[in-house]
Amino acid sequence: MTFEDNQVGILLKAIHFAAAKHMRQRRKSSDDIPYINHPIEVAFTLFEIGGIRDPATLTSAILHDTIEDTSTTAEELSTVFGQDICIIVLEVSDDKRLPKAERKRLQILNAPHKSIPARLVKLADKICNIRDIIHSPPPDWSAERQEEYLDWTAQVVNGLRGINPALENEYDTLLAEGRLKFSH
Ligand code: NDP
Ligand code: ZN
Repeated sequence: MTFEDNQVGILLKAIHFAAAKHMRQRRKSSDDIPYINHPIEVAFTLFEIGGIRDPATLTSAILHDTIEDTSTTAEELSTVFGQDICIIVLEVSDDKRLPKAERKRLQILNAPHKSIPARLVKLADKICNIRDIIHSPPPDWSAERQEEYLDWTAQVVNGLRGINPALENEYDTLLAEGRLKFSH
């Protein structure tokens, strides 16, 4: 497998762009982890576990939280990375004008209707988030809240099945580990 020079270039440009956008952010875990670790982990999970080699999917994974969690606009992404990548990132971004419960409900409802690249990024995102919940949860989250989060991701992931068995298997293994953690 070889990447074209311009594909390597766009992936590096995305890492550089996302690192700058997430520069002052940290994940919610108690370990004070820089935010950029998460999009890099999502892209690497797609590559390493999912066997994904599609440059647009991997680049979108790096950028997947820039619209939702930073001041980045769709216009900016479209100008810098092109419309195809912008559309994938928009597909995996919640509409922040909606109340949180509605956003969570829409994720479950809309997951099966997304494009394949968007579904792959969403699946890897949920894998990484439940991995974090199991191994490095936000310190102020009760066990009940962590468990509710796992349950919600399971509903979203049900709408993402049938596209990548290896990623689904990774999610299911982690979910079982999480359920075990909260069963006693
Ligand atoms: P949030 O949406 O506030 O937080 C989860 C999101 O934060 C993830 O999807 C992830 O999104 C990001 N994130 C950042 N750091 C971490 C980390 N270390 N581990 C995992 N995710 C991280 O959570 P919810 O509001 O969805 O709460 C979860 C559940 O708990 C819900 O079902 C909600 O109804 C319930 N709840 C319970 C409360 C209680 O006290 N019992 C109070 C409030 C909610 P990204 O990848 O986009 O960064
Ligand atoms: Zn994410």
